[in-house]
Amino acid sequence: MNDYEIVVGLEVHAELSTESKMYCNCKNEFGLEVNTRVCPICMALPGALPTLNKTAVDYAVMMGHALNCKINSVSKQDRKNYFYPDLPKAYQISQAEVPVCEDGHLDIVVDGEVRSIGITRIHIEEDAGKLLHDDSFDGSLVDCNRGGVPLIEIVSEPDIRSSAEAKAFLDMIKLTLQYLDISDCKMQEGSIRCDVNVSVRKKGQKEFGTRCEMKNVNSFSAAVRGIEYEAKRQIELIEAGGTIEQETRRWDDVKGESITLRTKEDAHDYRYFPEPDLLTIVIPDEKIAELKKRLPELPSKKMLHYMIDLGISQTEAMLLVESDDKSKMFDECESLGATPNAVLNWVLGDISKYMNESGKSIFDTHLTSEKLCELISLIEAKTISNAAGRVVFEELLQRDIDIKTIIEEKGLAQISDKDALLEIARKVIEDNAQSVADYNNGKTNALGYLVGQCMKASKGKANPSMMKELILSLIE
Ligand SMILES: [Zn+2]
Repeated sequence: MNDYEIVVGLEVHAELSTESKMYCNCKNEFGLEVNTRVCPICMALPGALPTLNKTAVDYAVMMGHALNCKINSVSKQDRKNYFYPDLPKAYQISQAEVPVCEDGHLDIVVDGEVRSIGITRIHIEEDAGKLLHDDSFDGSLVDCNRGGVPLIEIVSEPDIRSSAEAKAFLDMIKLTLQYLDISDCKMQEGSIRCDVNVSVRKKGQKEFGTRCEMKNVNSFSAAVRGIEYEAKRQIELIEAGGTIEQETRRWDDVKGESITLRTKEDAHDYRYFPEPDLLTIVIPDEKIAELKKRLPELPSKKMLHYMIDLGISQTEAMLLVESDDKSKMFDECESLGATPNAVLNWVLGDISKYMNESGKSIFDTHLTSEKLCELISLIEAKTISNAAGRVVFEELLQRDIDIKTIIEEKGLAQISDKDALLEIARKVIEDNAQSVADYNNGKTNALGYLVGQCMKASKGKANPSMMKELILSLIE
């Protein structure tokens, strides 16, 4: 296995969250009663003429900018002809030769290393309908509500070298769509699907091996399992003296295996030809520039900063990037000069917990990045303990009040005054003679108990490391 390298290319289909479908006024919405959102245009009845949804093109251009693509100011639409029951039109309008965007790249971080994955193209196309299978009925039924829903297809170069890289790439594509707010990204509703191309080659070999395409991969975890299964199948076949046939396979995620759908011999010939009912898509340069200005700070850039510049782990960086609130709070505190690790602990700990439990944004509370930074520096300066910090935090969620006032009001300042601590230590030692004897007889964990008692007696305000030293000096 280790002599081989896995080569993966991905084709990601994402449904765009436009109001209406790609070529008609039918509502673009999931979950409506079957066949209630159809019209002569999306059913391609004779004489019906499609009109292009310009918002869908804008969205494709925005994704193109986000993935560093060249945007084609002139692109074309073509008919992709195939016969399948979920496509009553018997063709799908897509883009064959000239897509809206091409030649881009997306940077991801895997195992601490930046990998730049090439983007071959992004084109617009319409979705097909959906087949419904019901055990009570001997056959299948068709729901055409999805027919004509706008899609972008993002095609990567075969630059991906492991299932982990594929997962990181897919996660970043999904996050980018979410940041741009152009797709609802609901995987369970099929808003994002992908086709996975897998081949293997001996390490050091230049030419690519023969690839197999896996269709209908409906989740990112299924893509990971599918890639691992397919690579293993191909390597075992080669090692046994066999050869890989180019074919299209179907991934069965329940069984955890892929099966042949069609081989090269019966590959589809889509007989692409220019769509005669639609005009050439022309996007003025000013429009292309204006759409670029609409981009927010992109998640791939944030991931790179968190992982490469700050050394945050992939899992934690993802938790930040996935949430606007968490990354905003983190970024603001970082720019105010707070220690990144301390901020990270608050953001992924107490702040995250508050947001989950209340369902509210942290920015709807009285906690600001300035106050969080102040709180962190007070804890770092040992003015208050971690436990007292939590009390302050809870107050800051509820009240518009400054931290010093809370500390005074609640008497939270940490006791670092030696005489005061000494008094507490003497009292605890007096009351716990048995524990002192235990410690002197070698039961070292009795020390922890004694310090604990001191903390309790001080209502958590004693400086714990000073307390420990004082106890030791008294009983040894
Ligand atoms: Zn329609």
